[in-house]
Amino acid sequence: MKIDIRNIPPEGLFREENIPPEELDPETEMVSLSGPVAVKARIFRIGDILDINAAVSAVLKLNCSRCLCDYSLPLAKAFRCDHRIESGEEEADLTPYVRDELMIDYPVKPLCNDNCKGLCRGCGADLNKGGCSCGATKEKTL
Ligand SMILES: [Zn+2]
Ligand SMILES: [Zn+2]
Repeated sequence: MKIDIRNIPPEGLFREENIPPEELDPETEMVSLSGPVAVKARIFRIGDILDINAAVSAVLKLNCSRCLCDYSLPLAKAFRCDHRIESGEEEADLTPYVRDELMIDYPVKPLCNDNCKGLCRGCGADLNKGGCSCGATKEKTL
């Protein structure tokens, strides 16, 4: 998401853009995006600083750390940040700021549900779908 620094009107610049997941590339072992990230941003220039007010929404594709199922999590947030304009810089890229904001909100231990029962340690059955037959998880502490 590139902003032409030379053409920012005094009343601010409004930009709306969908950033494709491959441009953000926030993928970790556990997380990825299930579609583009919608960004709405208003940018003001104050001297050498770009004052960026943005709202982002995305759908995270997650993998539950207990039962290993795939699930999606809608994420919407607003943030504000500053970009310092280097001398000679004509274009500012907002994508890294968006990436940072998404990374902050990535769950470290994703859970499909707060009450997810996980998998049986004995037989690997998904305990959310009922009990298992091996009996290894009568009293399960996670
Ligand atoms: Zn789960
Ligand atoms: Zn079992």
